[in-house]
Amino acid sequence: MSYAIESLLIHGGKDMDKETGAVNIPVYQTSTYKQQELGVNSGWEYSRTGNPTRDALEKLIADLEGGKYGLAFASGLAAIHTVLSLFKAGDKLVVSDNIYGGTFRVLQNVFEPLGILYEIVDTTKPSNVEAAIDDSVKAIYIETPANPLLSVTDIEEVSKIAKKHNKLLIVDNTFLTPYLQQPLKLGADIVIHSGTKYLGGHSDVVSGLVVVKEKEIADRLYYLQNAIGGILAPWDSFLMIRGIKTLGVRMDRHQENAIKIANWLKDSGYVSKVYYPGLESDPGYETQKKQAKGPGAMISFVLKEEYDYKAFFKNIKLITLAESLGGVESLVCHPATMTHAAIPKDIREKVGIVDELIRLSVGIENVDDLIEDLEKAIKSSKK
Ligand SMILES: *Cc1c(COP(=O)(O)O)cnc(C)c1O
Repeated sequence: MSYAIESLLIHGGKDMDKETGAVNIPVYQTSTYKQQELGVNSGWEYSRTGNPTRDALEKLIADLEGGKYGLAFASGLAAIHTVLSLFKAGDKLVVSDNIYGGTFRVLQNVFEPLGILYEIVDTTKPSNVEAAIDDSVKAIYIETPANPLLSVTDIEEVSKIAKKHNKLLIVDNTFLTPYLQQPLKLGADIVIHSGTKYLGGHSDVVSGLVVVKEKEIADRLYYLQNAIGGILAPWDSFLMIRGIKTLGVRMDRHQENAIKIANWLKDSGYVSKVYYPGLESDPGYETQKKQAKGPGAMISFVLKEEYDYKAFFKNIKLITLAESLGGVESLVCHPATMTHAAIPKDIREKVGIVDELIRLSVGIENVDDLIEDLEKAIKSSKK
């Protein structure tokens, strides 16, 4: 379909049930399908291999990312696991230095023991990626803006390096979603999402999505999806389609609130650092502006020394202390002990994930209420 993304969010993929005209794709809560005779079926055989509700979601995310083939999984990490299963012992990946903690964990504790290696580099400087390339490298794996320091990697520049050396470029697009950034159009080969976050948008479903544009990679991934079996259930596929319909309006409000909060934090006198690629002072500002429609709604900051960060987490009221992000409600977390606890302390501190770092997922509440909550919590945590 060639509609703009706001229309694709509502009508992309399968758009309605052909059989009944139902405007929403039904939940095909079935594990198997009747075969007319031996070797003859309706195109559906068994729901691990394919399910019409999941198929609608898979076609939808493919349309949204400007790709051709979509795949839906039981979680973001199930999606990542399946993508990493493209590789074999002796293969190496070049990986961004502040990726999601769980991605780091599966690389280190599941794939490395199987002989699949990785090298962590600061991908915000594409020359570091180029320097890490050798024959054993099969793919470059980036997240931008990366978690939790919102550091921005130039997707187009890295994709040029990937193409020059004939390597795959894999981009985790969870933080921005295709509404704000479309990595396949910037040269990426595989896009990964934790659908649990903005795409689902209501903190009520865990899911993962993958989109590719080339048939050869897609065929291998469909094979792995069926062989490994980490698929998304019909009901959760329905919830994802339902969530995605409002992605545009949610994201607009998320971002409007985040821009106000980031500027307020910067000028507040309470913080020593604000990480947000929507601030002109941020090192990723120009690249972000070039490759995405907006900076998104994740902000990280470091409180000044005179404030006790542990007390801050106790004092915050409207904003919820919880893992995860991207839901309609604002969430705050402590990366060093929560989302990024799997990363060894020395690596964490080297890249800036210090104990005082606070990560905020800005929701769609009234922004003045959010700022008031932040200000009260900070003031009352003065040492
Ligand atoms: C949450 C997250 C994941 C993992 O997804 P799950 O759905 O929790 O398995 C991967 N990447 C990023 C950027 C995330 O935020």
